Amino acid sequence: MIAEIQRRRTFAIISHPDAGKTTLTEKLLLYGGAVQLAGSVTARKNARATTSDWMELEKQRGISVSSTVLQFDYHGYRVNLLDTPGHKDFSEDTYRVLTAVDAVVMVIDAAKGIEAQTRKLFEVCRRRGVPIFTFMNKCDRPTRDPLNLLDELESVLGIGAFPVNWPLGTGTSFRGVYDRQQKSVHLFERTPQGAYRAPVQVGSLAEPFVRERLDDSDYHRAVEELEMLDIAGVEYDAQKVHHGEQTPVFFGSAMNNFGVQLLLDAFLERSLPPQPRHVGEKVIAPETPAFSGFVFKIQANMDPRHRDRIAFVRICSGKFNRDMTVTHTRTGKRVRLASAHRLFGQERETVDEAYAGDVIGLVGHTEFGIGDTLTTDPSISYQEIPRFPPECFAFLHNPNPGKFKQFRQGVEQLLQEGVVQVFDLRDSIQKIPLLAAVGPLQFEVVQYRLESEYGAPSTLENASWDAFRWLPAGVDVKAVKLPTGCRLAYDAAGLPGVLFPSAWTRKYFGELNGGMELFDLPPEG
Ligand code: GDP
Repeated sequence: MIAEIQRRRTFAIISHPDAGKTTLTEKLLLYGGAVQLAGSVTARKNARATTSDWMELEKQRGISVSSTVLQFDYHGYRVNLLDTPGHKDFSEDTYRVLTAVDAVVMVIDAAKGIEAQTRKLFEVCRRRGVPIFTFMNKCDRPTRDPLNLLDELESVLGIGAFPVNWPLGTGTSFRGVYDRQQKSVHLFERTPQGAYRAPVQVGSLAEPFVRERLDDSDYHRAVEELEMLDIAGVEYDAQKVHHGEQTPVFFGSAMNNFGVQLLLDAFLERSLPPQPRHVGEKVIAPETPAFSGFVFKIQANMDPRHRDRIAFVRICSGKFNRDMTVTHTRTGKRVRLASAHRLFGQERETVDEAYAGDVIGLVGHTEFGIGDTLTTDPSISYQEIPRFPPECFAFLHNPNPGKFKQFRQGVEQLLQEGVVQVFDLRDSIQKIPLLAAVGPLQFEVVQYRLESEYGAPSTLENASWDAFRWLPAGVDVKAVKLPTGCRLAYDAAGLPGVLFPSAWTRKYFGELNGGMELFDLPPEG
């Protein structure tokens, strides 16, 4: 069991839309030998150009289209690559997936640098201290100054950056990268669309054939930059990398399949196998004999003909065997796990055994909710899924009084599943739920499922707030002064906070209330 766990690497790729996440995913699959799948990832993404298309697609193909854990073997490693939903589907799901991984690869468009969504996703990773590896993509095109890109990682994200390799030239004069530790040069050849593994020639920077291939100015510049990095740059610190305080940086081009293998090899070598998880005071090592894991995502089938749900479980300790009986910690019930699946693209495959680090999909257990623990040791109860600050708010109306019961029942079930959050304004006469989400897709999912599963149509009324902030524990709510447009509201646990329409009102709130501290997650105690 220990050997199986040690060879596992479970990670996700994060990026701002269009930085190259899909392309990099495909290329990684290529190395894992899943060649027939490379290509289908893009096809899937293109097919999901809009949210409504996504719904249609789910209807036609069933659940497996949008939920994915890509698993492959590479050089003795068992790699689990968890798919984070992309742009249009941006939602709480994306964040939750990040609680199930042991590391992330952050893809940055080297012409653009850090963008809004990268920053948000990074923030979620940092809170958990997840190790972050950075891939500066699109080096085949003119990029920003590489030193400047490193500076940005430090100044904007506050993370130390250690370039593992360094670009030689940029744009049309991009010739490859220099591996600072192997002290070798990897030369880039422009292959049409990079359909095959990129050919590389390796040699030292001083070799004549390297010099000949580089423009004079590019050569001197690279030599100077590398010298500077050696003298003044960050030193590699494995400890810091493992705690997410330093990021190893790689330059390359996913589309041209350049630098991808360097990234993959270094990532596997420098990242850690599944690590112990904390449950209160207790530390659960992955090789603990007891099986344990937690649900980090629930995917409901949009197809009425195959209406099932899959609960995705990240295994944190022990070994999963088909048909094993576990305790569902929240209810205390014993549950037999008969139908566990591995989902690979559109393929559903029954899993007979899986180990800490793996993700399995459990079909048909309606009692499972996000964050629930499943284990053979009932004293284990993970608290791995935090709540995430919502950014979209909307009132959900029931236009059909005759369907009141179905509407209420459906909303309750979907809230339990964690599809959206709900806030209570306390003074509304009609008790219309105020839904809150990280991304608007979550509202669409609610509406779609209410109608298809509960026969309850609904209408959505967007609310103009863009943030909810919790008040400090024990504050006198009546004494709080609210700027115009703000509203007091309570979360599902009854904790008070304020709905804000803008960053400006949040600032003004501080001035009105003597600098009162606000929390973007529920305050402790
Ligand atoms: P995602 O939204 O992050 O998944 O980004 P995609 O992988 O779909 O890439 C967005 C666009 O950038 C697509 O048109 C890709 O072909 C292009 N792209 C991805 N990697 C590279 C690269 O290395 N070089 C160039 N020039 N374009 C790239």
